[in-house]
Order: sequence, then structure tokens, then C-alpha cells
Amino acid sequence: YFAKEGRTGVETYLAERDRNSPERLSLLADLRRAVGGSELRLNYQPKLCLATGAVEGVEALLRWWHPERGPISPAEFIPLAEQSYLMRQITQHVTDAALEQAAAWWHAGIEIPVSINVSARDLLDPGLPDLLEAGLSRLRLPPRAVQLEVTERILMTDQAYTADSVRALVELGVPLALDDFGTGYSSLVRLQRLPVGEVKIDESFVRRIGASADDERIVRSIVDLVRSLGLRSVAEGVETEEVARRLREMGCDAGQGWLFAEPMPAGEATAWLRRRLGVAAYDRPAELTTG
Ligand code: C2E
Ligand code: MG
Ligand code: MG
Ligand code: MG
Repeated sequence: YFAKEGRTGVETYLAERDRNSPERLSLLADLRRAVGGSELRLNYQPKLCLATGAVEGVEALLRWWHPERGPISPAEFIPLAEQSYLMRQITQHVTDAALEQAAAWWHAGIEIPVSINVSARDLLDPGLPDLLEAGLSRLRLPPRAVQLEVTERILMTDQAYTADSVRALVELGVPLALDDFGTGYSSLVRLQRLPVGEVKIDESFVRRIGASADDERIVRSIVDLVRSLGLRSVAEGVETEEVARRLREMGCDAGQGWLFAEPMPAGEATAWLRRRLGVAAYDRPAELTTG
């Protein structure tokens, strides 16, 4: 019964429902080995202003290249990691790698924020602001070179509203975004109590604009709500021109999705950004001499 429900069938069922299954334990053991090695890498997906097409930022998305199983989605291994001490290590690894990439871009003239996804528990970790502050200063980056994305589920934890870590992040000047909005059951009051600047509308609604009147109404009301609070709305999962057009009409500020670009490895993302931003190819002197 459950096996049929899971997105990848039996494997997902065993991994998520049975905490002590051999499959789950072996995946966790593999993940433990992968952290710190080269199996975990970040891909980067651009975020664009819907009105002008300007590139506003890039989101870092984790990929696990398992030696036997091939690529494993973060939707599968992040929930697993979240139930173990591994999540903290993964967040540290992702933060370090994303900051290094941000530094490479900023020092080459590509000055756009790199968004890092953090789990709710890691956002409340008092070590996170310190880790970011140290990284930013070591790499000579301003705080606006990064943004943190945390899922809407954070609003369910009352701790979040008073957490020292959240206050420290605001003081540090690192912007916060609320991710996957619409999938939880947050009230307006709760949204207002967290210092977020941006709300990302979950792709499950955005994708079906045009096909489902209900989903379109949901997205429209989120966009209105977000605007009335003085925040910015970002649509995830923009796959078609039609969806982008309707989002623009609704007044949604920014979009991310396959229509614009898929998540790309660092090298590809750099080439994409250079093309879009028209940044000179500093590290290719050959072009300068022949041009
Ligand atoms: P998210 O942060 O909401 O990321 C958006 C997801 O939508 C990504 O899935 C992205 O690849 C996918 N996506 C992008 N464009 C489109 C599109 O046009 N259509 C559709 N259908 N999907 C699109 P991905 O990369 O599989 O990541 C899944 C989730 O895993 C993320 O959702 C995020 O919550 C989590 N995640 C990813 N990387 C990290 C990480 O480094 N740390 C933590 N804590 N969570 C992560
Ligand atoms: Mg995200
Ligand atoms: Mg999201
Ligand atoms: Mg999402």
C-alpha cells in the first residue's frame, strides 16, 4: 500500500517510514561517508525578476551522486539526514561551498546573492550566524552576498520568533526567505512575526497555474498577501511562458524554474551568468588578446 504511494516506490517507503530498516541504515551510512567527500555537490539555479528578466540571485541546490545508485534527490536524503546528527554537518558543508562559490562570482564581478537552504533546526542553531560571519569575513564578502531559505514549517515552531540565532542573522545583515510557501498551514499573523524579506511560493501550485483554477487562486492570494505585508514574492517551478505571463499579471516579483534555467553545476552556471549579465571573461585572457 505505502510502497505504491511513494514517488520512487519501495525504496522511499522503507527509507522514510521504517526508521530501522536495513535500507535506511545503509543509506545513512553511505551519506555519512559522502559528507566531506566529493559525492555531495551543489547545483545552482538562477532567480529572475519577472518584469525585466534581470537576474536577481542564484539558489544552491544539493545533489548526491551515489557511486552505485546514481543521483539521489535531496527530497529523499535531506529528510533522512534531518533525523540524525548528519544534517548539521551537511548544512556546514553546503554553507562553506556556497560561500566559496559566491566569493568566486563576486570577485569576478558577478554580484548576486547566493541562496542557501537550511533546515528549520539549523536555523535555530546558535552556531550558524558565527559560521556565516566567519565565512563572509574570510572571503571578503558583504552579508547581502548570501540569503538563507527556510521552509514554511519553521512558522510552526514558536521558538523561531524569539530565537537568538534569528536575531543574530538579522543583525549580521543576512536576508531570510520563507521557502515552499503554501504547503503548511501558516496564518498571516505567523508570517508577520518572522523577519523574512521574501516568500517563495511552492512549485506544486505554480506548475498548475493555467491547468487548475484552484491553484491559480491560491497563488494569486499568496502574491496579494505577501505584497500587503510589504514582502517580495518569488514563484518556484516556472516551467512555461504562459505561467510566467500569468504570474507577471498577478504582480509576482520574481520567478525560478526550467523555463529560465535548470539547476546547473558551478561551471555551467558561471557561463550562463556571464552570458546573461554580460560580465567580461576575466579568467580568459585569450579572448581579450584576440578580440
Ligand atoms: P526547494 O528549496 O523548494 O527547491 C526547489 C526545487 O524545485 C528544487 O528541487 C529544484 O530543482 C526544483 N525545480 C526547479 N525548477 C523547477 C521547475 O521548473 N519545475 C519543477 N517541477 N521543479 C523545479 P530539488 O533540487 O530536488 O530540491 C528539493 C528540496 O530539497 C529543496 O526544495 C530544498 O527544500 C531541499 N534542499 C535542496 N538542497 C538543500 C540543501 O543544501 N540543504 C537543505 N537543508 N535542503 C536542501
Ligand atoms: Mg529553496
Ligand atoms: Mg522552495
Ligand atoms: Mg519547493
